[in-house]
Amino acid sequence: MPVNIVMLGAPGAGKGTQANLLAEKTNLPHVSSGDLFRENIKNQTELGKLASSYIDAGELVPDDLTIKMVVDRLSRPDCAKGAILDGFPRTSAQAAALDETLAETGQQIDVVPFIRVPEEVLIQRLTGRWTCKQCGRIYHTSFNPPAEPGVCDIDRAELYQRPDDRAETVTNRIKVYFEQTAPLIEYYRERGVLVEIDGNRDIELVNQALLGVIPAAN
Ligand code: ADP
Ligand code: AMP
Repeated sequence: MPVNIVMLGAPGAGKGTQANLLAEKTNLPHVSSGDLFRENIKNQTELGKLASSYIDAGELVPDDLTIKMVVDRLSRPDCAKGAILDGFPRTSAQAAALDETLAETGQQIDVVPFIRVPEEVLIQRLTGRWTCKQCGRIYHTSFNPPAEPGVCDIDRAELYQRPDDRAETVTNRIKVYFEQTAPLIEYYRERGVLVEIDGNRDIELVNQALLGVIPAAN
């Protein structure tokens, strides 16, 4: 049976970090809308050009563009077994579109871990985040440093700081999260799939808690 997981939480909660770990352990594909946008920006596609001004301002990219991009990704063969969604859905319209697209192939959202982290911690995490240019592995200058500064442990590629992790943009992204994405907590709670996870502890402990609630890993 396919397994679909939606990682929910504010920017900086640890969704990408945990989705990477879960993808290794469950063999499910990690589908990150933010990574898909960044790939489009890097390749200078039409979508990348349309999305970049919203991303730079810490605003959400319009639903129609975002939904099409993620639905296309989910239609690829590797997602027949399900997916770990990270950063999508972020609005009620996206959540409804996701339910609809999964229903077309008899699939559904099985579990929605909501990773809860206090707001002041989010800012510290985002402003210290470094990401591998090649494999997307996520580090933090103090909380999860690479063995050698600026270099990825996995593939030795260069690490970079995301332009939208500047302090001014971070504040707006968190505001946008509370306004537009936090209502999804209730949406999924009402459907009986929400599981709250305390994200304010070591990466490994958060990961163990997640593995305990994910069907594919049991
Ligand atoms: P999100 O995908 O939710 O925006 P990330 O996974 O990119 O969040 O994590 C944001 C930053 O916080 C990164 O620098 C990451 O290394 C760090 N981080 C993630 N989880 C933890 C944790 N449990 N404790 C401390 N730092 C963490
Ligand atoms: P993330 O990598 O998840 O932090 O996303 C980076 C940025 O990409 C966000 O701040 C938004 O501008 C954009 N983005 C990512 N996912 C979505 C989404 N589901 N809906 C709208 N915009 C998104």
